[in-house]
Order: sequence, then structure tokens, then C-alpha cells
Amino acid sequence: MNDALVPPHVRGIEVDAQTRCAHYNSPRDVVAIKMKCCGEYFACKECHDALAGHALEPWPRGERESIAVLCGACGSELTIARYLENADRCPVCGTSFNPNCREHHAYYFR
Ligand SMILES: [Zn+2]
Ligand SMILES: [Zn+2]
Ligand SMILES: [Zn+2]
Repeated sequence: MNDALVPPHVRGIEVDAQTRCAHYNSPRDVVAIKMKCCGEYFACKECHDALAGHALEPWPRGERESIAVLCGACGSELTIARYLENADRCPVCGTSFNPNCREHHAYYFR
């Protein structure tokens, strides 16, 4: 079994190994979001705007059990519900997430 620890590809501008990008690159900016519109992980909404070629579509409220959040620190994928439950840190590895991300949740999740 080697299906673990193969993190999905994350698109973005200057994305590093932990999903930081040109826009958000503090030590705690390690969250990538799988976008509802295209099913691809992006480092942030600005990266999506720059590369996707279409408007970002947020996840509807009824789809909180979809796996759509990637912790760039450990490579774990989380459901939206699990991420929003405690958006301050990764429930798997405990890495702190940037608290400012909360202000952006409305772009990704309705
Ligand atoms: Zn998209
Ligand atoms: Zn970005
Ligand atoms: Zn983690």
C-alpha cells in the first residue's frame, strides 16, 4: 500500500512544496483549496483567477462533506466540514493555519 503521502497537484503562481504561493507565503499559509468549479487544487483564489480562465465557483452549503482542503504541511486532505470546524490548525498534523484565512472563507465556501 502506498496510496498515502502522495499529495495532489496544487496549481498556482510560485507554489512551493507546502502550497504557499506568490500571494500568501507566510510560514502558516499552507492550505490549498480544491475549487468547486474545476475540481483542481489551487493555492489561493488569486492563483485561480490568474490561471484557471474562468470565474471561481464557491462550494454550496450542502456539500460540506466534500474533500476540498489540503494541508500543505502534511499532505492530508480534509472535508470542508472538518476544516471549518477548526480552521486554526490542521487536525492531522497540528500545524497552525493563518488565521487571516478565515476572512477568505466566503470566497470558497458558501
Ligand atoms: Zn475553477
Ligand atoms: Zn496565490
Ligand atoms: Zn497537516
